[in-house]
Amino acid sequence: MTYAHANAEYLRPVLRDAHGRVIRDLRISITDRCNFRCTYCMPESSVTWKAVEALLTTDEIVTLAQIFVALGIEKLRVTGGEALLRDDVVTLVERLARLPGITDLALTTNGYRFETYAAALAAAGLRRITISLDSLRDDTFHRLTRVRGLARVLRAIELAHRYRLTPVRVNCVLMRGINDNEIEAFADFARAWDVSLRFIEYMPLDGPGEWRRELVVPGREVYARIQARHPLTPVAGQSPSETARRYRFADGAPGEIGIIAPVTEPFCGACSRLRLTADGKLRTCLFSVVEYDLRDALRAGAGRQELAARIIAAVAKKEAGHRINEPDFILPSRTMSCIGG
Ligand code: SAM
Ligand code: SF4
Repeated sequence: MTYAHANAEYLRPVLRDAHGRVIRDLRISITDRCNFRCTYCMPESSVTWKAVEALLTTDEIVTLAQIFVALGIEKLRVTGGEALLRDDVVTLVERLARLPGITDLALTTNGYRFETYAAALAAAGLRRITISLDSLRDDTFHRLTRVRGLARVLRAIELAHRYRLTPVRVNCVLMRGINDNEIEAFADFARAWDVSLRFIEYMPLDGPGEWRRELVVPGREVYARIQARHPLTPVAGQSPSETARRYRFADGAPGEIGIIAPVTEPFCGACSRLRLTADGKLRTCLFSVVEYDLRDALRAGAGRQELAARIIAAVAKKEAGHRINEPDFILPSRTMSCIGG
């Protein structure tokens, strides 16, 4: 490493919490609205959305993102709700992509409207995409999402390859008795479609509050079942702050398997993430029971320094870890669709 590089490394801003964790990732939810009603995420009916005026505007998101980046954030993920329900998503991605200091810009989507935006998002500077897909069977897909959309989501995965938003990630939330019979089929799919298939344990963040421990399919079981079908090898050089344990196929086939096990094997000790909700609240953990306002302060005229001070103060209080497995666990008052997954 040259002196100049070493010096640049030294000068990188660092946002650190009270547990010594360096915070580099920010997930920005740009809407709480969604065109799906995934059973593990929100209720089927009586969903109320925030008023449009309550949501951060594109300018506000970019201003806050600039402040986060100046503090040390390097990776941004745009999410929701369903981010592709917001018409200004392309402009937003374009402006975020231009921020100096950003090393990664990704988007999480259910894929349903991706065909409309794929070319424009790629041209705007989006680097990677994660598409959610919980079943390869029409009926189970419908049962889980309450929408008939499997063909459109598969098309989205094809388009993600075409526009080189690679490696293409596919998120699959497993629920016992509903889609856990598809684990092996999904492993075959990862190989055939060259995707990084991420199996996620069902977390207690569903609207109806129907989460039960018996419905969680442990990551360990997923690993054992795939290993029995297609032997796996850990991917070299994984960062401890990654949520997924990643494996490639030992026979050299394309694709990858990721296992995200926040319930049975919490990874909070290496968490490097913050979340900004669509209505401008900062959350330091998915399971936080407190949120820190940024929107109202920004709208009241707070300057960059004051907003930065609010962020630093919130990060200092970042929870050591979630308490899903503790008897005093408190369910967050917001669902995953509101928090931003
Ligand atoms: N609407 C987009 C989508 O579905 O990809 C982005 C937002 S969604 C909240 C982000 C991710 O969170 C999705 O992959 C979804 O499957 C996951 N998710 C939602 N509720 C969950 C839960 N209760 N447990 C685990 N993952 C969940
Ligand atoms: Fe919508 Fe995504 Fe939640 Fe499904 S997981 S309801 S697509 S926000």
